[in-house]
Amino acid sequence: MKNKSLSSLRINDERFRANFETLAAIGATPDGGVHRPALSEAHLEARRWFLEHAKQIGLDARMDGAGNHSAVLLCGRAGGPTLLLGSHLDSVPYGGRFDGALGVVAALEVLQVVKEQGISLNTHLEAIDFTDEEGHFANFVGSLGLAGRLEPEHIQHPRGGRDRFRQALCQAGLSESSLFSAGRDPATLAGYLELHIEQGIRLIESGIQIGVVTNIVGIRSFKIKFIGRADHAGTTPMDKRLDAAQGASAFTLASRELVMNEFPGYVATVGNMEFEPGVFNVVPHTVTVALEFRADDDHKLDEMEAALRQQVSVAAQQFGLESETEHLDNTPPAHMNDQVREAFVNVSKALGLKHTFLPSGAGHDAQCMAEICPTGMIFVPSVGGFSHSAKEFTEWEDCANGANALLQAALMLAR
Ligand SMILES: [Zn+2]
Repeated sequence: MKNKSLSSLRINDERFRANFETLAAIGATPDGGVHRPALSEAHLEARRWFLEHAKQIGLDARMDGAGNHSAVLLCGRAGGPTLLLGSHLDSVPYGGRFDGALGVVAALEVLQVVKEQGISLNTHLEAIDFTDEEGHFANFVGSLGLAGRLEPEHIQHPRGGRDRFRQALCQAGLSESSLFSAGRDPATLAGYLELHIEQGIRLIESGIQIGVVTNIVGIRSFKIKFIGRADHAGTTPMDKRLDAAQGASAFTLASRELVMNEFPGYVATVGNMEFEPGVFNVVPHTVTVALEFRADDDHKLDEMEAALRQQVSVAAQQFGLESETEHLDNTPPAHMNDQVREAFVNVSKALGLKHTFLPSGAGHDAQCMAEICPTGMIFVPSVGGFSHSAKEFTEWEDCANGANALLQAALMLAR
């Protein structure tokens, strides 16, 4: 096919929708969502559907040591690299039907269109479903594994415990050691493209169909201890207490003000507080606060960290407390590839779709892939911004627009 006719190629909307609905029925909940936590029975069933569907449409279906499911179309030159398209089939517990699933079904549809047209490209195409994107056991196990970035500490303390993790891996035909065998040689990869719902309200509120992702935010998390003194809750006057709860609360309120005033558009969250001894009748001697904050560039993260640390000292001092700050985790921001971004912009224009640039406030497999190959993402509008809930919804027209943008960008980059 000539380039001109390639640009007129579109996905088969009816078929795409039917496949999406079939998948949404696996692990479906009565309220319209799906319950497919990674490696659960419903998730494994969704993955069996992926493999069977891929074989049915004549693709080469396989699974790697990290459990990533792939469908390969050898449409490139012999020995040429592979362009990956995908997302994830797992969901958060009682999540929505679009998060992840849309990107995987769209990737399969793109491959099917290219296959039935018999198009020869410069690179091969592969639809991929990554393992445990949502971190049911451990964040991004599949994409970290494929990127060769999985470290033993990533799976040292899986959520739900190591025995349960091992058991779940075993049921899926995997093991802890197999997870480390999935690394690919970056030289064999032409790039990675992901279509995803926005999970926010920026696109829907501005009536824009395609969000071209610039960066995926970096996340830093800290455990902060406010330490005072345990005292009798009945006999210790208010002004004689070293009450750790007061410092923790003052910090929590101040962190909101700080971010809203000095770091507009960014976010900080106190997600948990643990009180010790944690009873009604004792002034708490220690409160441990779980803090995380996000920004799309490292310099901003540094500035936020310094300002928040300063706020910890101020809050502790105000109530005569000691404080300890422990750095837990640092996920750096991931930058989407310029050439891939440009491709998404060009195809949006060619398809007559309005586009805008925006950072992703949520983590995605694309951040792991960005470390080893040219990577890009697009978002389509989420009605009401709901996500990680059964209320998650994207108009079908927007899903189809996203899939066509994915198809056209893949053709542009694989040519
Ligand atoms: Zn997702």
